[in-house]
Amino acid sequence: MLRQIVNYFAKRKFTEFTLNFLNVDTVFLNYHRVITDEEFQNNDRPSDDLIVSKSIFEKQIKYLKENFNVISINDIDKDLGLKKKIVITFDDGYLDNFKNAFPILKKYNCPATIYIVTSFLDNKNFPWWLKIWQIIEVNEYIFYDQKKIDISHNSLKSKIYNFFCKKFFIMKSSEQKSFFTKITKNLDQTRLNRKDEFLSSNDLTKLDQSKLIEIGCHTHTHQNLKLLEDHELNDEINTSKLILEKILKKKINHFSIPFGTKKSFSKKTINVLKKFNFKTIVTTEHGNFDKKKLFGIPRIGIGNSDVAGSLYSKALGLDSLINRILKR
Ligand SMILES: [Zn+2]
Repeated sequence: MLRQIVNYFAKRKFTEFTLNFLNVDTVFLNYHRVITDEEFQNNDRPSDDLIVSKSIFEKQIKYLKENFNVISINDIDKDLGLKKKIVITFDDGYLDNFKNAFPILKKYNCPATIYIVTSFLDNKNFPWWLKIWQIIEVNEYIFYDQKKIDISHNSLKSKIYNFFCKKFFIMKSSEQKSFFTKITKNLDQTRLNRKDEFLSSNDLTKLDQSKLIEIGCHTHTHQNLKLLEDHELNDEINTSKLILEKILKKKINHFSIPFGTKKSFSKKTINVLKKFNFKTIVTTEHGNFDKKKLFGIPRIGIGNSDVAGSLYSKALGLDSLINRILKR
């Protein structure tokens, strides 16, 4: 209901006036995956609000280009004399960013930043959330807490997936490994199938050669940074920055915090990150962009249902504003 009211007001001129008054200057949008429409229809992994189909993505980019000034992350502190500025970002470094999103970005001359998890590059490693889903997807039951749990139906699969994701989020990688071994013990199907889901170093170089694309760091293994010891935190940042700089033969200036909510970073995280001389650090917290605060920039996630009013409200910064008020 509230969303509908927000969308309604987003379409009205005076909302724009109010937002200018509130000083919403630039809004950062956050994408993850852009998959083909066919893949989108066949995708049954729960919590797929971070996935957008190719046709919807094209509609969104066209709409953003027609109604906003989409700028590069490198221009955010410049006085361009423009209003309603948008910065488009992608997290994790999925192959589809290159295959599906990049041609559309080029078609509409739309700049974007892609944040890479370096251990996923060349599909050397893949994220725990995909590993968990692969196990849940193919099995009829799973063992947890000394109980055999029925996961034969989709609703049960979805429930246990969300439950495990919450658990994994607050675990360090060593705990995740032993937890994973425990839940997969005695299962019929435990073989993980590594699909080519992430960018190769070669794709990354091609993306970087485009003037539209800026490459940023998203750590080496995508852990919850708040749980890490100082040396582990340093390693996560340093390794990923070095790998990217070696492949691209240039300095990496931008960083995106894995998961990005307050539950996954602290003041200490930001202080450690500052030592690496990044120019910007983005989060997924709600709020307004402030030119003076480039270390903890808020972003709003864009999903497949964000079209017309809903996309407009998010791009105007109205959605973040409401979310922040509701959270208080
Ligand atoms: Zn991520």
